[in-house]
Amino acid sequence: MKVAIVGGGIGGLTTALMLHDAGMQVQVFESVSEVKPAGVGINLLPHAVKRLAKIGVLQDLYDVAIPTESLTFFSKFGQQIWTEPRGLAAGYQWPQFSIHRGELQVILHRTALARLGEQNVKTGHHFENYETGADGIVAQFRDTASQRIVEVKADVLIGADGIHSTVRERIHPEEGPPVWSGTVMWRATTEMEPFLGGKAMIMAGTPPHKFVCYPISIKTAEQGRSLVNWIADIRIGGPSPYKRENWTQRADMQTVLKYFQDWKFDWLDIPGLISKATTVYEYPLMDREPFASWTDGRATLLGDAAHPMYPMGSNGASQAILDAEAITNALLVEPDVERALARYENERRPATAAVVLANRESGPERVMKLADDLAPRGFDDIEQVIPYADRLAIAEQYKRLAGFDIATVNAE
Ligand SMILES: Cc1cc2nc3c(=O)[nH]c(=O)nc-3n(C[C@H](O)[C@H](O)[C@H](O)COP(=O)(O)OP(=O)(O)OC[C@H]3O[C@@H](n4cnc5c(N)ncnc54)[C@H](O)[C@@H]3O)c2cc1C
Repeated sequence: MKVAIVGGGIGGLTTALMLHDAGMQVQVFESVSEVKPAGVGINLLPHAVKRLAKIGVLQDLYDVAIPTESLTFFSKFGQQIWTEPRGLAAGYQWPQFSIHRGELQVILHRTALARLGEQNVKTGHHFENYETGADGIVAQFRDTASQRIVEVKADVLIGADGIHSTVRERIHPEEGPPVWSGTVMWRATTEMEPFLGGKAMIMAGTPPHKFVCYPISIKTAEQGRSLVNWIADIRIGGPSPYKRENWTQRADMQTVLKYFQDWKFDWLDIPGLISKATTVYEYPLMDREPFASWTDGRATLLGDAAHPMYPMGSNGASQAILDAEAITNALLVEPDVERALARYENERRPATAAVVLANRESGPERVMKLADDLAPRGFDDIEQVIPYADRLAIAEQYKRLAGFDIATVNAE
């Protein structure tokens, strides 16, 4: 079985490593000419870490990431709505990691180079088109250095080329750009004194006016400091001001500060944190409608190319990693490629569509919205606003939907 993967991001590289471990011939084609640690922080939930452990990178993750121990939701007044242990602290057999996205990509890229060989992990190859047939698929890539078209023949083509996927565009040319939610996210990192024990993730406010942060670097933690990744959301509405959304668009810190200047709490000084950031990036909150199909003959989609979702509930990278395992298993079990892809799609498409839709309703952050709706001026006792059983139900329901409830993860 020869598999060509478009995109050397989190999903593409994980898939390549899993398929390689399963004995398949794999080639990755990444558009950028050099893999640099791009992006800021993301989370890997225990079900995804379990899969990454199987491909032998658990120690690499421990070497750079923070094993997150808790998640706490606060109101815009800094009052606690919900707190829960996370990862090993919650009893999972695998940790939850908060990690710099670029460092995760570099770990996977380095591992793929070592195992698959340089000739099979190509950069500077931009996917343009494919032709699928009964006995194989031919993909065309533009070599970005020479501008020549390179043709690659394979049994399967996996489009793991992110939210602006060209493979998706070829499969569904009628679709158009991603759908903007009306919300802008500003993202950055700040080095500071640790807060709430140094391994906590917090969210404050409500989904249209929200602040999220968590530390992402174990090396900084070992020096008694925290490198804190933060995301500030504001709903501005109206038509999208973006020509094409990209992860490297810079923003002005003063714009962010004006929305959060009163958010000084005894457990965290949010304006202080914002004002000490290095570079602030701006990114629109967007996703795509779940599709009725991901596959065309021998071509299919994976990760953000298949199911871009709002980053509520820390699931973007984790769901791509679950896809990687599902497609590997399907190709192992079903010798017929089209049947294997149908099996993969039947397993993953409904599961990920449910997460996309739940994230539009704020995922587990729904509890913050509920608290704000019921007590817009704050509260003395959250139990009087939303009883414990209801807050627990919101948290547990989302974990089950996204496949990381503790019983499932530890039992699988
Ligand atoms: C530069 C960058 C920075 C990011 N930063 C963050 C962040 O800070 N926080 C966050 O939550 N998420 C971030 N993401 C998105 C996050 O990585 C994904 O949501 C998640 O990890 C799922 O990964 P994926 O592999 O499906 O997609 P991605 O990680 O987006 O990977 C897609 C890959 O495909 C490549 N590609 C695109 N088009 C082509 C083509 N035509 N031919 C060949 N290759 C192509 C891209 O260069 C990229 O390497 C970022 C993505 C990118 C590309």
